[in-house]
Amino acid sequence: MAELGPGERCGSLHSTLGRLISLARPTSDVAHMCSCSDLPDLIYVEEHPTDLFVRMEHVGTGNWVELYHCPSCHQFWRVDAWDKYQVQIAVKVPSQEEWLSFDCKPLILDAIVQVRGGLSSETCVWSGCGAKAVNGVAYCPVHLSEAGARR
Ligand SMILES: [Zn+2]
Ligand SMILES: [Zn+2]
Repeated sequence: MAELGPGERCGSLHSTLGRLISLARPTSDVAHMCSCSDLPDLIYVEEHPTDLFVRMEHVGTGNWVELYHCPSCHQFWRVDAWDKYQVQIAVKVPSQEEWLSFDCKPLILDAIVQVRGGLSSETCVWSGCGAKAVNGVAYCPVHLSEAGARR
């Protein structure tokens, strides 16, 4: 009993708290920054923390798309409106002026190839296409995306 006096318990609690606080400090600084620059130009929203866009400012609405602005790094993101039938994609757009006209198709084609593990040695079966098919399927990225695939 003597070696576990109240003072000692208190002391160890304080040092534990102190350690927790010093551990928490860098994390809370990071929370004020953002991860935009670490993210690729196209992301699948469901694969990222749900608060990713909550921290951003909603600055525009288009046809099934929303524009977000990151207050930390000033990156603009065009985010698909949520639709249970469609994979929700977010892309970095260069400016607020061009956000609706920005062509994200090349990014989607790249993402399809990346997610599916590259191209195969087969040729796309689309009549007259001749492009390499995506790994595991019969179509090239263009014809997969035209069929509605987003990854
Ligand atoms: Zn940012
Ligand atoms: Zn094709």
